[in-house]
Amino acid sequence: MAAMDEVRYGEAVKDNMEAVLMVAPEKLEVKQVPVPEPLVGEVLVKVESTTICGTDIEIIKGTHVPRWPPQLPAILGHEWAGRIVAMGPHTEGFGFEMGDHVAGTSHAGCGACRMCHIGRYNLCYNYGKTVTGHRQYGHVSQGSYAEYVSNNIRALHKMPKDMSFELGSAVDPAACGLWTAKRAGINAGDTVIILGSGPIGVFAFESARALGAGRIIVVGGGRRLEIIAGQGAETISYREGNVVEQVREMTDGQLGNVVLETAGQKASFQWAIDCAGKGSRVALTGIPEEIPDIAWKRVVLEEMDIFGVRANPNCGDEVIGLIRGGRLRVEPYITHRFPLKNYQEAHDIFVARQDGALLVNLTPGT
Ligand SMILES: [Zn+2]
Ligand SMILES: [Zn+2]
Repeated sequence: MAAMDEVRYGEAVKDNMEAVLMVAPEKLEVKQVPVPEPLVGEVLVKVESTTICGTDIEIIKGTHVPRWPPQLPAILGHEWAGRIVAMGPHTEGFGFEMGDHVAGTSHAGCGACRMCHIGRYNLCYNYGKTVTGHRQYGHVSQGSYAEYVSNNIRALHKMPKDMSFELGSAVDPAACGLWTAKRAGINAGDTVIILGSGPIGVFAFESARALGAGRIIVVGGGRRLEIIAGQGAETISYREGNVVEQVREMTDGQLGNVVLETAGQKASFQWAIDCAGKGSRVALTGIPEEIPDIAWKRVVLEEMDIFGVRANPNCGDEVIGLIRGGRLRVEPYITHRFPLKNYQEAHDIFVARQDGALLVNLTPGT
């Protein structure tokens, strides 16, 4: 056995790799860059599939610099799956082996702060302090828009080998949907209103379904909404008529027991409260640029619970179980596939929501 403090390679790895670099706001370049070497606690993973997230699009606009990313050029991407090709120092004994198939997730907490101790590592007090071991891949640390990523084993989920990498690259966004549903808490038979028909809305729908919701009404628009309707959701197009009135009508005036807001728009924030019924629970994932006036009186007198949602702590293994058991569907939402080098085209299609673009998958090195 190799010394614990050495890097052990399971196959020949070249010196350079293809990567999509964000070089400036709205400016991306496909380039060859050095393959990273795994540090303590990290494994080198060959990225086999990666998916575009709405957050990537926001980061590419440059409005989050220097928080996300702290410096340019940067490699984004945090929804991915791949194969372990090298084990870094001190990675033995955790259950990860050379050749394992793994799905990535963005947050790796420091492991030592109060939030990490209670499992809320997405709220790590040492966020962004690299020296503590904290990472958020594709945000403050190198992401998956590359042939290889050196990832801490704390931010990996082992996949069964009969699950495709393409499904694996949906584990992170699906976990965001599951966490949103779990934050609100879904009881058997609940009427759940989901605002937004993008990838997180889709996976909030799938998760609410898996958790035993009775009725699920998704508010969204265009081809994306049709795709969700095709999977059994009741739908309301926000472009046609008054959303709240339609929800009221469909629920005999009772509104939702649970509302999951995934669109992050001023109007959808408003609807989140206005579509929430007595004793309801509301989870919010988006952050609108402008916050609307909320009906706080109703929140108080109708005893609503409101939950913020950040990313997807502790949900990756659960999602893999749900996908494997056929309880959470991914395939119907994979709308596009591209080689990673065609990232710009994929990005533009996602932004334009062309043909209802939902999961736009990219394969590095092809
Ligand atoms: Zn994401
Ligand atoms: Zn921490």
